[in-house]
Order: sequence, then structure tokens, then C-alpha cells
Amino acid sequence: MTAASDRDADDEDEDETTPAAAFSRLANDTRVEILRALGDSGERDPRQMPYKPFDTDEPEGLSYAELRARADVADSGRFNYHLGQLVDHFIEKSGDTYRLSWLGVLAFRFVIAGVLHDQVTVDPFETDSLCGACETPLEACYPSEQLFFLQCPDCGSRPVGIDLPAHAVRNRSHEELLRVVDRRERGQISLLSDGICYWCAGRVEAAVHPSPASRAGVQRTQPTVTLLCQDCGGVRFPTVGTVVATDPRIVAFLVNHADDCDRFVWEWPFTTAPDAVTVASTDPLRVRVDVEGDDGAQLRVVVDDSGTITTVDSR
Ligand SMILES: [Zn+2]
Ligand SMILES: [Zn+2]
Repeated sequence: MTAASDRDADDEDEDETTPAAAFSRLANDTRVEILRALGDSGERDPRQMPYKPFDTDEPEGLSYAELRARADVADSGRFNYHLGQLVDHFIEKSGDTYRLSWLGVLAFRFVIAGVLHDQVTVDPFETDSLCGACETPLEACYPSEQLFFLQCPDCGSRPVGIDLPAHAVRNRSHEELLRVVDRRERGQISLLSDGICYWCAGRVEAAVHPSPASRAGVQRTQPTVTLLCQDCGGVRFPTVGTVVATDPRIVAFLVNHADDCDRFVWEWPFTTAPDAVTVASTDPLRVRVDVEGDDGAQLRVVVDDSGTITTVDSR
């Protein structure tokens, strides 16, 4: 590192609004304990909280003595020093009462979600869902780095690969975990295909790749839609069928024509089955997804090269 870049780094640390300053302000066990003590002290019974605006300044929180007892710091000098580092940033003080600021609330949620530190894993387990390509039961796993996969042990098809905070897998049965993944998958794909980044709220651009890709032993069973954030680089590669499944018109069709609407998104044949999707034209690119109800009703959905639905025809 050059002297000039050293100086730049120091200058940046002095600026209170940089990411480095925010991270360093929390880089201490005692400060995180104080943050947790305040966060854990909040109301958890929804019946006791009819409404609370974000910007309320009603006095609530913990007194100095309560906060110090809950944070369990014996040395008062150490406690005072670290509390002082947080006040006016992650903590607000009014009178003798301390509470989390909105930034403090966000930091507390980050700690609870465990996204930057938790190493929990889940061993592979078989699910009741079948592979859309070969009908083998799909296997779920959460092997490392807070990534969840649903994959066919036979043909290598992978209907779901999604980021999932470590907290999501703690104290949940396999079935509950699959439900969490399903809802997150729907929410994430819905937002991203609407052009909004799930992670940073930035701008997302999309492109359809008509030939199902395969890489590192992972197979795609349908053309995929690349949903790529222009700001943070966040990316997902859902099948065309999965993007179609999040559209309200298709959801409404399934409500009216399917026996069980509550099935997981990867259990609808049109989201994974290779023969549910046809490349109708290549220039301009148009991909057709055939959605079928349990009563035989059919919906023909056409998607353009950006993954946008151009036509929904019932047949
Ligand atoms: Zn398979
Ligand atoms: Zn982003």
C-alpha cells in the first residue's frame, strides 16, 4: 500500500458516514452485547403493539442500570466507554433511557440473522418433491456459506439454489425449512423480475438464455432467466417457468384450476419440466411456457428476451 492510499484509508476512517466507520463502531464484543441487550428488550407480543410509527419518540428502552445488568458487563468503566461509542449512532439516549436507533435496529437484525458470522449447516435430506426431469426425489442441503440447495441426486438438476440467513435453519423442521425456502424463492424472484434488487434495492436487468445451461455438474432443465443487479451484482438464474410462476395472472389461474395451490414453487411441473417450455422464435426471442391445471385447463404464457410476459392465453 502506498503512503497516499494509507492516508486515504485513514481519512475514510475519520469520516463517520463510511461503511468502515460503521463496521468498526460495532467491532467489539461488549458493544454487540449492548446492542443485543437493547434489541432483546423490545416487545414481542403483537397484541401489545397496535401500532408504532418508525419515527416515534415515545420514551421506551432500558435505564442505564437495566441495560448494564442485561449486557452483563461487570466493569463500569469498560461498559461506559463502549456505550459511549454507540450512543448517537446505533443507540439513542433520552434522559436516563437508552434505546436502539433505527440504524441500531437494522444492525441488531443483522446480528440475529447471523449473516456475517453464523456457520450452521444442515446435512442433505430427502424431500417429498420429485425432480421435474427424471422424477427422482429431490435432496435438500445447507452445506456452507448460508446457501441452500435443492438438487436431484440422480440427474444433477437443481431447481433451487438460494441464499438463506443462518437463523432461518435454526429450530425448524425440514418441512418448515422447505416452506421458508419456497416463500423466499417466490419473494426474491418476484422482486428481481420486477427490476428491483432483493438485496440492495438497486436496478436489475434481465435476459433469457434459450438453451438450458449446465455447469460444474449442475443441470438446468429449462431456459433460464439471468436476473442481474446493476449495482451490487446480486444475481439469480431461475427457470423461465419459475419466473412465470410468480406472476399474479398465473397464480390466479392456479388458484382456480389446481387441487393444491399451496405446493412449493418447484413442485409445479411448468417450473422444472423440460417439455413445459418451447422456444417459439429466436429472432426476436420468444419462449412459451405451458401451464396446466389439474382440471385440464391450460394457460399458454409467452415470455420475451428480457423475461417479461408478453401474452397469457387460456386454452
Ligand atoms: Zn433428476
Ligand atoms: Zn443489488
